[in-house]
Amino acid sequence: MTKQVMCGNVAIGGGAPISIQSMTNVSSTDEKELVRQISSLAAAGCDIVRVAVPDMEAAETLKKVKKQIAIPLVADIHFDYRLAVAAIASGADKIRINPGNIGDANRVREVVKAASERNIPIRVGVNSGSLEKDIIEKNGGVTAEGLAESALRNLRLIEDMGYDNLVVSLKSSDVAMNYHAHKIVSEGTEHPIHIGITEAGTIRRGQLKSAAGLSPLLLQGIGDTMRISMTADPVEEVIFAKELLAILGMAEGGVNIVSCPTCGRTKIDLQGLAEAVEKRMNEEKIAHNITIAVMGCAVNGPGEAKSADYGVAGGQGKGIIFSKGKIIKTTPEEHLLDELIGIIKADIK
Ligand code: SF4
Repeated sequence: MTKQVMCGNVAIGGGAPISIQSMTNVSSTDEKELVRQISSLAAAGCDIVRVAVPDMEAAETLKKVKKQIAIPLVADIHFDYRLAVAAIASGADKIRINPGNIGDANRVREVVKAASERNIPIRVGVNSGSLEKDIIEKNGGVTAEGLAESALRNLRLIEDMGYDNLVVSLKSSDVAMNYHAHKIVSEGTEHPIHIGITEAGTIRRGQLKSAAGLSPLLLQGIGDTMRISMTADPVEEVIFAKELLAILGMAEGGVNIVSCPTCGRTKIDLQGLAEAVEKRMNEEKIAHNITIAVMGCAVNGPGEAKSADYGVAGGQGKGIIFSKGKIIKTTPEEHLLDELIGIIKADIK
């Protein structure tokens, strides 16, 4: 098990629930927009938000934003150690740096000193795009081994400065490389690991790559906090991260929806019903671990989906609502959705 660090009031590692992160994409100097976007992310289930800090004005803006948001904030810094120091002074709950691009050891030391004064974690983040030259030469290119070596080297750099309030991340947009690099790092450190597939792409591709790349890690217990990275509204990242954790049975209060592929027996608009159930469950923000089955027919529906907590199975112009394999009632097709949601809500409230 990894060590545990605290990012504001959110525990990372050491058996804590896997926290979901996202990153704002509005201007980092637009206080109002930042607060608006962070509030939307928090409402969607984001546990920790990251904000890019490209200049001093952005570092200053953090101070005002921090007073208006309810979730911990991570300042993302590249190149200039003074921005990291300023962001920490503005109240960042954690900072993300790549020591390799912050400058010499003295500059990194300044950041470590500021972080240690407030006892906030530093996320040491390395990317396949910014590996050290000597590591690339040694490995004959950018490799999983090289990525892991860079991460462990940069962790050691800060550990040797006497600070171990650390989280590590290593990211590649290459799913296989990402996987192997994480495997190596997880065997070489006890620090919590932030996982993600970087630059994963547009919504569909980003979801595919992230699911393919992160599920094998999560199922092996690798990953203490995660971000789905997509070219989209960041709220989509949070929704998908929640769904992925629910599918893997790792969510705190995640709804898992299963639906049959339909066949010649299907007599209702099952695709529409399954999509509507998914949408309503997201809107209702039900924070319970439940599985809902949306099945095309009553012949196999309740039987095939015996383990589901709730389910519907279609018939000709009507459907049945069942729970744990037992039929509760028969309902006209047009009322199936509302009846199902009503039964679930009445049960869990
Ligand atoms: S549940 Fe019924 S409709 Fe759906 S695939 Fe199975 S047999 Fe076909």
